[in-house]
Amino acid sequence: MASDDWLSLVVWVLVSLGIVICVLLWSLYRLKSALEKAERELKNSEEGLSEAQSIAQMGSWSRDFEHGTSFWSAEARSVLGLDEEQESFKHYETLLHPDDLEGMMEAVASAYHQGGGYIHEHRVIAPSDNKERWIRLAGKVFLGEEEMCPVRETGTVQDVTLKRQAEEALRESEEKLRSILEAAPYPIIILKAGQSFTFRYANKSTFYLFEMAMEQQALDTIDMQSFWVSDDGHEQFVEAFSEGEVSNYEVLMKTQKGKVFWGMLSSTPMDFQGEAALFVSVLDVTDRKLIQEELERLATTDPLTGLLNRRSLFDMAKKEIRRAIRYKYPFTILMLDIDHFKRVNDTYGHAVGDKVIQRFSEVCTSCLREEDVLGRVGGEEFVAVLVSSSAEGGYIVAERMRKLWEAEIIDVGEGKDSFSVSIGVSELLNQGEAFDVVLERADRALYDSKSAGRNCVTINAEQIGHIS
Ligand code: GH3
Ligand code: MG
Ligand code: MG
Repeated sequence: MASDDWLSLVVWVLVSLGIVICVLLWSLYRLKSALEKAERELKNSEEGLSEAQSIAQMGSWSRDFEHGTSFWSAEARSVLGLDEEQESFKHYETLLHPDDLEGMMEAVASAYHQGGGYIHEHRVIAPSDNKERWIRLAGKVFLGEEEMCPVRETGTVQDVTLKRQAEEALRESEEKLRSILEAAPYPIIILKAGQSFTFRYANKSTFYLFEMAMEQQALDTIDMQSFWVSDDGHEQFVEAFSEGEVSNYEVLMKTQKGKVFWGMLSSTPMDFQGEAALFVSVLDVTDRKLIQEELERLATTDPLTGLLNRRSLFDMAKKEIRRAIRYKYPFTILMLDIDHFKRVNDTYGHAVGDKVIQRFSEVCTSCLREEDVLGRVGGEEFVAVLVSSSAEGGYIVAERMRKLWEAEIIDVGEGKDSFSVSIGVSELLNQGEAFDVVLERADRALYDSKSAGRNCVTINAEQIGHIS
């Protein structure tokens, strides 16, 4: 081979080698850039993951049982309070509060045997400050394919101390509230709202007032319905309490043993364990009701005879006259005045006078129908309201009274005596006439009876004209 050929071969080889080296160098450069890029991306995603964990305050961890290694993320270390020395930390159990160890073991047992996840909240003692903190540990155990024993476990840790403290505070305040309700001197009931009102909660006073045994059947088998006396008590309660907010609803109630009492109920709507409910307080107002009824009775009746007094008789008569006008019934009144009553007092004394007034009221009442009403309107003056009676009917009643009273023999202490009465009768003449006008006519008729010598009955003169 000529030297030129050798030379060109050497040049060709050198050029080719140069090209190959260039290509190799370029590839190496590309590879290095790609590796740097991948490294940057990995670093970024690690930083991102770490930031995300820090924001969520949730660390991650994993354990490899085959190689005996474990990994705890920076956030996991911070959550658990692991310091620098615990770089090769492996035994989570060493951090656990001794009282929570057993619970934790129970919680993870099934996952370790069958694989799968678990969640458990417990206290750990943080090595960094030796303080207790509440941790929520969630994990998942992976079993080996052949021997079915754990090979890997991974999970998260979260500091839930604040949540637990809030739960504890809530529980404490609920307990406080419950003990206040329990100690309340009047019944407090929480009822499920709806068409039926079943018990959800009742304090001690409720058991006492409703005469329920303390070892009562389950509360939710008791319905408010069982405590009403009237048949339509339930409908009335539903109507009154459907709006929720009710104050001072007075109703006749009965205990589980059947004792009847007046209850005063107030309620406010509430949410109880996730369902609409009514918070109801009950007061036994029987005593107050009785006093009220007694006061009303005293205000409307005459203490000597027990008859209606002047004011309540006239109120009642005015109502009756309106009804008579509306339904076009006759309406008649009698005005009665015991004759020479002053003499009774003067001869036998005031006490005998009182006795005569009492007896007179009984005699007159015995002559009346149930719907007619007698009242004492003055010392020895009485008015009878005869519903659906004409003047003639009234005259018959009055005559019966007069005769009976004349025949009545009364023990006056030192002997016996009898008395007489004069009566005036007046009927409603015109539709729309006021009671006072009818009363005035009865008074004139009474005056006529007195003028006629007493112990007689007179129908008002205008009335007689009207009748004829
Ligand atoms: P007349 O036949 O005209 O009706 O004569 P009277 O004496 O009945 O007439 P008058 O109305 O003047 O007298 C009523 C007397 O009744 C006067 C009063 O001393 C007496 N009196 C009034 N209220 C009571 C009472 O609550 N108890 C007693 N014992 N007497 C009373
Ligand atoms: Mg008189
Ligand atoms: Mg008199």
